[in-house]
Amino acid sequence: MRKRIFIAVCIVIILLFVYLCIHSSRCEYDYIVIGSGAAGSVLASELHKAGYRVIVLEAGGDYNCLPLLKKATEIQNLVLNQEPAFDWREVTEYQDNIQKQLTWAGGRVYGGGPAINGTFWLEGTPDIYETIGIKGAHLEKIRQFLRTELEIEANTVASPVGMKCCKAINQASNIPIVNNYNEYKFACSPYIQVTQKNGKRTVGSKVFLSGKVQTLLHCTALKVKPHSVKVLHKGIPKQIRAKHEIILSAGIHSNQILQLSGIKNAGSNAIDAVGIEVFFTMPPTDNTPSDPNAPAAFYAYLPGSSGQRDFHFVGKANIIPGLLTVGVVLIRTESRGEAQITTKDPLTQAEVNLNVLGDESDMQAMMYGIRTHLIPMALALFAIDNNYILLAPDAPTVNDDAALRKFILANVNSTVHNFAGTCSQVVDLKTGKVKCLPGVRVADASILPVPTNGGTMETAYVIGKYISERILC
Ligand SMILES: Cc1cc2nc3c(=O)[nH]c(=O)nc-3n(C[C@H](O)[C@H](O)[C@H](O)COP(=O)(O)OP(=O)(O)OC[C@H]3O[C@@H](n4cnc5c(N)ncnc54)[C@H](O)[C@@H]3O)c2cc1C
Repeated sequence: MRKRIFIAVCIVIILLFVYLCIHSSRCEYDYIVIGSGAAGSVLASELHKAGYRVIVLEAGGDYNCLPLLKKATEIQNLVLNQEPAFDWREVTEYQDNIQKQLTWAGGRVYGGGPAINGTFWLEGTPDIYETIGIKGAHLEKIRQFLRTELEIEANTVASPVGMKCCKAINQASNIPIVNNYNEYKFACSPYIQVTQKNGKRTVGSKVFLSGKVQTLLHCTALKVKPHSVKVLHKGIPKQIRAKHEIILSAGIHSNQILQLSGIKNAGSNAIDAVGIEVFFTMPPTDNTPSDPNAPAAFYAYLPGSSGQRDFHFVGKANIIPGLLTVGVVLIRTESRGEAQITTKDPLTQAEVNLNVLGDESDMQAMMYGIRTHLIPMALALFAIDNNYILLAPDAPTVNDDAALRKFILANVNSTVHNFAGTCSQVVDLKTGKVKCLPGVRVADASILPVPTNGGTMETAYVIGKYISERILC
């Protein structure tokens, strides 16, 4: 009898052992990618294609079937409503300069930013990418791959308002009117390149991951260690192991995860663009017959006083009926902020101080942009069609330094959701490897040591692809 009990106990122990072995091997992957956004989706796909066992961990769920998310032009509603189901809904620290906090949207959803963003495809100039080791010809190869996979397209019909604005910019700032603005350092165009197909978003997660790469949704990474990630999956704590590496592609949250993992200064060097919006009166009919899916009437890359591409001007018509809104965005900022965790609770947002217009040269640059590009554009536009009247700033404001400064401070209302740079001080810039954490890399725009002068979506996709190549080489 005793012998039988002994054998039974042994069998149970062996079965338990076998079960644990199988289970733990199931939870071990070659690579773990944190974040299914722009960078994470393409990177995970490339590792998977090379034959590795890859898992993507995504804090959000899959809401991409919602009409609100499918249709790219719903972006305005999304940003205004800050929907908690698929938006991180974060907020900066109080910015002394502009006397307010700024909110920013961030995709907390399968697909990340590209699942909720403005879909503008804006390519930064090659010098930006050289800072992380991507050379010109290589950059072009990566971009060709991405443009094809993401089916980048542009509206083929220009709206009258877009065409008139481009003519005005051309006359005022001597900037060429072109079909493809991404082929130029400075250009303006009424044809907007977008990550859309027939009005529906093209999201990296759908293109690169769906049905191919294993993805765990509602799974928030809390901390990383060499070879393992501590996660909360649908409220349950778990540990997931990686045989080779863990790659953080969590966008603005990559630095937070590093700080929670003990990397102290991961949050400094937060970089962002700043923008103000100005309004022109316009005849509402001028917005037709543009492609209704085009997210803007025109886009322009413009120079600052140093001759660099410092400004993006983006014009949207009839978001407020009868008005043309022009975003004057300073894209190459000198102000640097920081993002710091204040608690060990991984679910509490880090404190983000963008230090908006904290560096005087950014204020000077904004004043330059208004005086050198916006006002001459407004005069030229009025001469082309006197229905277009710039409502503010008026001439006395523009001509007086103190008044213009006050106008700018009062009107900065957007972070443009283009974060970068928060991990650049703790990684090797050319490989994304975290200096004090072996087996862990960062692959997203947070490794950039300088602000991008394109859009951060394109930057993140490029960096995701590039770091996958560095891993596989
Ligand atoms: C409203 C809005 C409009 C924008 N418009 C444009 C535009 O038109 N053009 C442009 O170029 N850029 C635009 N952007 C910015 C662009 O979308 C982002 O810069 C880009 O998506 C960044 O890519 P990423 O891969 O670094 O991060 P994301 O795409 O943000 O992906 C990060 C992913 O990681 C997940 N994640 C975060 N933390 C964790 C965690 N702890 N555990 C697991 N998962 C986690 C997130 O949920 C997210 O899915 C916009 C952004 C927003 C929010």
